[in-house]
Amino acid sequence: MAEYAPSYYMATANTLGNDTRCHAELVGEVTTDVCIVGAGYTGLSAALHLAEKGYSVTLLEAEKIGWGASGRNGGQVCPGHNMEYQALKSKVGAGNAKVLWDMSIESVALVRQLITQHNIQCDQKQGVLHVAAKASHVNALQESVEHKQKELGYEDIRYLARDEIQAMLGTDHFHAGEYWSEGIHLHPLNYALGLADAALGAGVSIYENTRVSAYKTGVDTRVSTVQGEVKARYILLACNGYIENLEPRIASKIMPINNFMLATEPLSDELCHRINRDDVAVADSKFVVNYFKLSADNRILWGGGENYTRRFPKDIRHFVQRHMLEVYPELAGVKVDYGWGGTLAITLNRMPYFARIEGNLFVAQGYSGHGVALATLGGKLMAEAVSGSAEKFDLFAKVPTPDFPGGTLLRWPGLVAGMLYYSLRDRFL
Ligand SMILES: Cc1cc2nc3c(=O)[nH]c(=O)nc-3n(C[C@H](O)[C@H](O)[C@H](O)COP(=O)(O)OP(=O)(O)OC[C@H]3O[C@@H](n4cnc5c(N)ncnc54)[C@H](O)[C@@H]3O)c2cc1C
Repeated sequence: MAEYAPSYYMATANTLGNDTRCHAELVGEVTTDVCIVGAGYTGLSAALHLAEKGYSVTLLEAEKIGWGASGRNGGQVCPGHNMEYQALKSKVGAGNAKVLWDMSIESVALVRQLITQHNIQCDQKQGVLHVAAKASHVNALQESVEHKQKELGYEDIRYLARDEIQAMLGTDHFHAGEYWSEGIHLHPLNYALGLADAALGAGVSIYENTRVSAYKTGVDTRVSTVQGEVKARYILLACNGYIENLEPRIASKIMPINNFMLATEPLSDELCHRINRDDVAVADSKFVVNYFKLSADNRILWGGGENYTRRFPKDIRHFVQRHMLEVYPELAGVKVDYGWGGTLAITLNRMPYFARIEGNLFVAQGYSGHGVALATLGGKLMAEAVSGSAEKFDLFAKVPTPDFPGGTLLRWPGLVAGMLYYSLRDRFL
């Protein structure tokens, strides 16, 4: 039987183990309108929105609901895309770039709306702060804030000078910041479980422990699992960094990478206030991003460090802790209670990859570290595309997603070298 990887999120998951959380493996044949593969935010959001439109939906998850990146991430939710706005404009034109920017704002609003509408208990808090890790990053940060305010007309962002950041974070490690007042942060696994509850309430059938091994499309569309089969009109792929070889036609569009987190022991109110006065989520400007926030029970949840192999480091706590101690050496004596990792998918241009692979086969993946909001939106847009309103889905799909060099088989060695090069630049330049 599948289990969650041990983490702070798993230890504090809402009613985990309760019967309503255990969904049997699919055995035998079922018929449905839409079969969705993968129960992270993408699959859960697609399922919920389709069921609300009246479709019958069968959601197949190889492990457990939110077992993938959706149950393990930093929980930071913020507008914007990881691709430079000017680059996006040059790819899709000024009008489309602005619509894509607006959709990133919509994605955050969607997360907030779903939490409220379905009363999801996920420790939601307000405020996301991006900080310059180096003096050389300050100008770009300031220009980026001005661009959003003046060119995009976005008001909910503010530039903060070094002394303000120092007062907020109790360290002089950072050089400036941009504060997103409409950004939020949350308990990611409980958000996923809340979406699942909402989807179940809307009539979705969820099968855990049910790995899809193959499918065939066309008039007689069928999805095969170890012990069962789903006859469907549509298939939606929502496997992101865990897709492996399920769909070789899109394999070269993404690269799976592993990212790691820790949770300290609970800290005093005084210490929490000193290192995160306003209880916001923080992320720095390094290529391998350091990010942190406080949990509902006063722990530091710190993310830092990546690797690009199939294995996680043996001692994840120590692997992440050294990043935390570079910023806050005074936390050296603080006990680390949990360390865990997860796999996410990045694209070469850092925009999500949405595609209609065949007439009734869709995929949304490759959120490049922005998936809490964009995967929630991606699921909704796939649901709209299935129901005949594909404009927004198609706009994402129009952004050209280059193949990772080397194609499916050869892309690893060169890419790993490239990623390592940039993470070394973080350290030395
Ligand atoms: C450590 C970490 C920190 C992160 N921090 C942030 C953050 O702070 N903010 C942010 O916006 N994003 C963050 N991300 C990224 C974010 O978590 C992801 O983009 C998002 O969760 C993707 O959701 P998803 O549903 O597409 O994929 P996932 O949540 O990975 O779900 C995919 C699911 O598909 C299932 N699956 C795969 N293959 C099959 C198959 N053959 N049959 C059946 N099921 C299958 C898997 O078991 C998995 O449950 C982080 C990611 C990690 C790993």
